[in-house]
Amino acid sequence: MKRPLIGVSACLLGQATRYDGADATDRWLVRWLHKRGEALPLCPEVGAGMPVPRAPIHLVERGDAIRAVDRATERVDETDRLRGWFDRTLPHLATLDGAILKSRSPSCGVDDTPLAGADRTTRGLFAAWLHDRFPRLPLIDEKGLADGERRDAWWRQVTVRQ
Ligand code: SF4
Repeated sequence: MKRPLIGVSACLLGQATRYDGADATDRWLVRWLHKRGEALPLCPEVGAGMPVPRAPIHLVERGDAIRAVDRATERVDETDRLRGWFDRTLPHLATLDGAILKSRSPSCGVDDTPLAGADRTTRGLFAAWLHDRFPRLPLIDEKGLADGERRDAWWRQVTVRQ
């Protein structure tokens, strides 16, 4: 049986792609996935051409849309270049069997990314676009993966696709 191909936020795999120049390595995740599948590292922000380090972004509501803007001034809107990376990367994304994304990130957060100025959370832009384009693709974040029940449910959905 083919090993599942899992898209993983690159910072979780040890790549120093975060806005502050750090990584967010999750060694347990790396070991767990290594035994079961192949990892495809993905960083929407670096892929879109944003430098490391870079000004941090957050999500804001503008009319009916959610946009990614710089945290400091909210004048630099990075949404379109993030979308450009997503569209260019679609052929690779279409080959995924699942994805493990970084929690709370304005790009990668699966469901717990803060929306600035609002008392609620949302999906990061990449996670939202991925879900819209591939609604059956199983998504989880590193916190969900650390939870046995959620991990098992997610993995069942991944392997059913094989
Ligand atoms: S955009 Fe995603 S992969 Fe890139 S540093 Fe932020 S959380 Fe990690």
